[in-house]
Amino acid sequence: MRVIQTVSEFREYRRSLGDSTLAFIPTMGALHDGHLSLISTAKTVSNIVIVSIYVNPTQFGKNEDLNRYPKPLEADLDKLSKLNVDVVFTPNNEEIYPKGLEESTQVIVPILSEKWCGFSRPQFFKGITKVVLRLFNIVQPTHAIFGEKDFQQLQIIKRMVSDLFLEITIIGSPTTREKNGLAMSSRNQYLSENEKEMASVIYRAFNDVKTNFKNGLKEIQSLTEIIRKQILKTDIEIDYLAIVDSETLEVVPQPYNGCRIVFAGTLNDTRLIDNMKL
Ligand code: AMP
Repeated sequence: MRVIQTVSEFREYRRSLGDSTLAFIPTMGALHDGHLSLISTAKTVSNIVIVSIYVNPTQFGKNEDLNRYPKPLEADLDKLSKLNVDVVFTPNNEEIYPKGLEESTQVIVPILSEKWCGFSRPQFFKGITKVVLRLFNIVQPTHAIFGEKDFQQLQIIKRMVSDLFLEITIIGSPTTREKNGLAMSSRNQYLSENEKEMASVIYRAFNDVKTNFKNGLKEIQSLTEIIRKQILKTDIEIDYLAIVDSETLEVVPQPYNGCRIVFAGTLNDTRLIDNMKL
């Protein structure tokens, strides 16, 4: 497995590949089984798999966890080499933003970026599209894999790619969960065992909604109340909870097969996000 740190070296490598298909997985490291499942998805579309590890400062707000975000690079590289990833791209800030973090060109996907996570974290999706477009231009993948865990992010990237005519197929990969149902996340490291158990209520409550929906409950308010009631019994503070259309992310007046429950909250300063298809 080759580790490349600079844009110029990556470009040289990319030229050597010519027209081959290339599957790309951007990450911020602190890899867990959720990230690793994206590699399995990548291997179904290409023989060449590239992973980037870069903690992108422009997507963090001033009071967020940029400085405490875990960076276990050696352990990450070990996991990736065991899965036969071809190249890991580990650039630093000077490589990605040579003119500085704030002054560099950015692309914004309007409306979609302002909802939900974008409402409570106004810089977040601007930072995501800022870095992902750069990574796409450096790596020049034919396919890129993103987790459904970050559902709004997946929709925003799909929209950016379509609006800007990028020739990249974006593939959503299912959420990997802990045994108790908690969606895996690098931020789960901030939680105690007790808190992880408490956070697993989100998944159980989603499933309760799904069962009720299948049994004929079609009233949005009653469906979301099922989740709210269970979460109110814990220390989790709800940021948002809604049932939305999968593409527009607008609240739906009536639930239908394929719409999504979306949720974000905080537990002891740790942000939890999750979603589930109805
Ligand atoms: P991150 O390192 O948090 O930026 O995530 C990198 C990629 O891994 C993103 O496409 C995430 O959606 C995806 N990802 C993170 N957690 C999970 C999970 N539990 N299951 C599936 N994909 C995930």
